[in-house]
Amino acid sequence: MLTPDRIVPTVCPFCGVGCNLELHVKDDFIYHVSAPFDSVVNQGNLCVKGRFGADFLYHPRRVTTPLIRKKPQKPGERTQAFDLEEWQAVSWDEALDLVAERLVKIYREHGSDALAVYCCAKATNEDNYLLQKIYRALFRTNNVDHCTRLCHAASVVALQMAIGSSAMSNAAAEVIDNDVFILTGSNPTENHPIIALQMKAAVRKYGAKLIVVDPRRIEMVDYATLYLPLKPGTDVPVFSAMAHVILKEGLYNRQFIEQRTENFEAFAASMEKFTPEVAEEISGVSRHLIVEAARMYATARNAAIYWALGIPESTHGTANALSLVNLALLTGHIGRRGTGLNPLRGQNNVQGASDMGAMPWHYPGYQRVDNEENARRWEKLWNVESGGLSRRLGLTTTEILSAVGPNGVRALYIMGENPMMSEPDLNHTRKKIIGLEFLVAQDLFINESGAFADVFLPAVSWAEKDGTFTNTDRRVQRVHQAIPPRGEARADWQILCDLAKRLERKLGRPQSAYWDYAHPGEIMEEIRRGVPEYGGITYDRLEKEGGLQTPVWDETHPGTPYLFAETFPRGRGKFHPLDYVPNAEMPDDEYPFVLSTGRVLEHWHGGTMTRHSWMDDLYPAPLMEIHPQDAIQLGIENGDAVRVTSRRASIVLRAQVTEKTNPGVVFIPFHFHEAAANLLTHDQLDPQAKIPEYKAAVVRVAKARPEELTSRPEPQRRGRF
Ligand code: SF4
Repeated sequence: MLTPDRIVPTVCPFCGVGCNLELHVKDDFIYHVSAPFDSVVNQGNLCVKGRFGADFLYHPRRVTTPLIRKKPQKPGERTQAFDLEEWQAVSWDEALDLVAERLVKIYREHGSDALAVYCCAKATNEDNYLLQKIYRALFRTNNVDHCTRLCHAASVVALQMAIGSSAMSNAAAEVIDNDVFILTGSNPTENHPIIALQMKAAVRKYGAKLIVVDPRRIEMVDYATLYLPLKPGTDVPVFSAMAHVILKEGLYNRQFIEQRTENFEAFAASMEKFTPEVAEEISGVSRHLIVEAARMYATARNAAIYWALGIPESTHGTANALSLVNLALLTGHIGRRGTGLNPLRGQNNVQGASDMGAMPWHYPGYQRVDNEENARRWEKLWNVESGGLSRRLGLTTTEILSAVGPNGVRALYIMGENPMMSEPDLNHTRKKIIGLEFLVAQDLFINESGAFADVFLPAVSWAEKDGTFTNTDRRVQRVHQAIPPRGEARADWQILCDLAKRLERKLGRPQSAYWDYAHPGEIMEEIRRGVPEYGGITYDRLEKEGGLQTPVWDETHPGTPYLFAETFPRGRGKFHPLDYVPNAEMPDDEYPFVLSTGRVLEHWHGGTMTRHSWMDDLYPAPLMEIHPQDAIQLGIENGDAVRVTSRRASIVLRAQVTEKTNPGVVFIPFHFHEAAANLLTHDQLDPQAKIPEYKAAVVRVAKARPEELTSRPEPQRRGRF
């Protein structure tokens, strides 16, 4: 047994649970990962990714030197280069000078709107804060977004509209205080495994009743008192029918509605049409189950709702999320411990990146960019002349790509994201990325998007830098550097400071001291001056007290485990009348199945990290889940090659025949470039949140020949350290 030189406490880099890790280091090598038993987040538990998935940082394909493409790339002729032979290793000065020169040239010739940036939900708060600051303060554009647009944007919009705050209202561990909880559009066993453990304990140990509402028969159904297997995209009718029952049977909370809400009459009138019979017709869920679920939720002492991407990733995602908010306001199940509205955030720091203003409509702290007072406040903080910051809303991720062209976006900076795997309708995405005049990628590996770049800036992993992540339940936690950076790789915040100083000089902006941070702790000092919810967060406190849940108003404030005890940020909670809107695509004779996309336990997002780790041996190839009833009709057996075709593209992968997926629905994880699920999805957006509909593209399925399968990545792309 090795004796470590040091054991470094930090936070998991994968999902939004934010499990606390201990990295055991010997000779600057992380050889073991454990978890502290006294962690309030994970109590000594880790899932397979947290425990065994860190080896990606030693993968031989990790890029540790700045690179520029040998062959200059032109708009419309841009090509992918995975092979290092196609790149030239250069110094940091050469790489950053080139990036600054090209970005400033495009800015001078075509203006602010020709530039856009993808921030990163895997990077730290400090990294994201700096990147959006560069684009806002130096380039004067709000074309700043990140993958929250592709996951919980509709939850954010709905919660802002209804209560004025978009974060989880409760600590995840409070699930054991629920008498009843609804889980919908979420598969926590695979996506938030440690929260799934807490949910199982809530049911089996503490006697909570669980209502699962989901088109897939996920593992949590085994723990449920009620399971409502709805058709994809019929959330509004089901949850509104529950509201209908609660209204008809007088189970609503009159006192709460009178004291803390508005627009009740209009909402109640709009629920008239959602009888359980109508909802059954649309959703396929038995009217009796809907009535039973409504009574169970409404009459509980403490009830809460948990959801993930099955709710927001829809062309009517905002309405879906509002149907959940309406239920909480109707019953008063919010504002107390063990009650509330809880959108489970996906990536390790998607909550933090959103808090840091990595979005096109908000400065840090969700302060609207089109509000004059907010703009002036940030001009002062960033030393920008009065009126200098743009008051115009920027473009979202999908809009940025759509705007690529001579009269739109010409240059894109991607920090740690992989739109060539995560955007919908990848053929469209590819066409747009090829059309860019200049592309910068800042990452650990040359992924499917970085392979198109002109310049590649090698960043360090989470284990090689300091900073903070904010997890799904608003807990800001310290990330500690455990090992030195590999090769010449640098921390994102250091790369960005070096770039910002060059940009300042080239743009002739007044010199300021704001890029001369010696440590990420100094960046947090600036963040807390601009974001009241982070006002009391200092690195000293995080070291002494552990994680702090925002809002933390000042240095004496203890943090806020659950929200809205007295009031909502917008004052009264607002009910929203709703209508049923079908999915953008509905099954027909030609495309009879609904495709749902998502994640599996062993992999993470676009696969940049887990496909370069041992996780890839545990789940090495894409699988399409199909119900046995459908498989029999199509003559498909477990493991057969199948061709899945949508109106946009076709992919071939193996079938997994399983009752986890309900009849008429197939499921494909989106981590695998060999059969990229997002080639099949469409780019229709929710009109309010601009989020695509990843959960409901229609497809047809047919048996294919095994030789049509795209082979696994070649060994050198997988490699071993
Ligand atoms: Fe990491 Fe999430 Fe697994 Fe915890 S549950 S170890 S945060 S991936």
